[in-house]
Amino acid sequence: MSSKVYFIKASVSDGEQLLSDKAVKLFNAAGFENCFTENDFTAVKVHVGEAGNTTYIKAPYIKGLVEKLLSLKTKPFLTDTNALYSGLRHNAIDHHITAAEHGFSLETLGIPFIVPDGINGTAEAAVQVNGQINKEVFIAYGIAKCQSILSIAHFTGHMATCAAATLKTLGMGCASQKGKMLQHAALTLTIGDNCKRCGECFKHCPADAITIDDVKAHINQEKCISCAECLAVCRFSVVQYNWGEEDETLQKSMAEHALGVLKGKTHKASFFNYLISITKDCDCFDTPDMPTVVDDIGIVASTDPVAVDKAAIDLVEEKAGKKLPQLVKYEKIKPQYQLEHAQRIGLGTINYQLKEVKYKQTK
Ligand code: SF4
Ligand code: SF4
Repeated sequence: MSSKVYFIKASVSDGEQLLSDKAVKLFNAAGFENCFTENDFTAVKVHVGEAGNTTYIKAPYIKGLVEKLLSLKTKPFLTDTNALYSGLRHNAIDHHITAAEHGFSLETLGIPFIVPDGINGTAEAAVQVNGQINKEVFIAYGIAKCQSILSIAHFTGHMATCAAATLKTLGMGCASQKGKMLQHAALTLTIGDNCKRCGECFKHCPADAITIDDVKAHINQEKCISCAECLAVCRFSVVQYNWGEEDETLQKSMAEHALGVLKGKTHKASFFNYLISITKDCDCFDTPDMPTVVDDIGIVASTDPVAVDKAAIDLVEEKAGKKLPQLVKYEKIKPQYQLEHAQRIGLGTINYQLKEVKYKQTK
């Protein structure tokens, strides 16, 4: 059995209008209107980009998709959960302001931005999944209770999962704070003896969990929230965890949370991965103009969250001429863990047929 994945070539250089039009073209070609019913509360899952980040998927790129949902008479809302990190998306107030500053608002897109896990990330629903890692998972209340989802993921590398795309957008990006902690709890980070005492990890740690003495940096495990920012910013690769075992557990837990998000939404969800502005790390980084690791490719979309991610990874690897872990320099992390577990628990299939959709511009 295989799933259909629709693909359209696209690049940031297309400009906002054309990128928006191309996403609508994919939506129509894929027949996604069948996923949405009049009066559905429809979560338009986005990542508004951490304050300072400039490579996130911009609001005008999805304007056409929002208009499409409005034409189907659903009740769409832009949404993203509070981040685990202490940046400007950590609570609903800062998150709302950051979203508005990045153009995700009623004024710009015609639908409201709603933080689905409440003011501090604790508004949640426990969902039974009976998975290998979790019997139940914790999903943002506003997402658990809506009827349909249109998920917009920006494909990037990631320091704990190697690939950040649809499964991560669902599993981590739709979980409450408790759900996120459950997933990150798989990681116990330590600092090796070759630490250069440069202080970068100390500056970035959102939990004040790092101290530096005369010899090296140390992580206070009582305070550490396992966010892995220190791992990402250490240029000397001395931040360690149990590669292979712990990232496997995290990715499996993430897939099980994605299953919880989609429970009760069979045939009510569609997934987009934007393969443009592909950076080594995700949009949670506050770094402006992060360098891209491969040229822009396009947009892939499917009703199968596993197939759409597998297709995205394949397209990126083909374009780059190398495997994703080498491309984003997280060589020890295997992104297939999330794909294979997601397939095993019934989220979808890694077998897909790629259907290219051509866009003819009218003058
Ligand atoms: S960033 Fe790396 S080298 Fe620098 S202090 Fe932290 S662990 Fe040590
Ligand atoms: S993982 Fe690293 S950056 Fe994150 S809280 Fe723990 S010590 Fe701090």
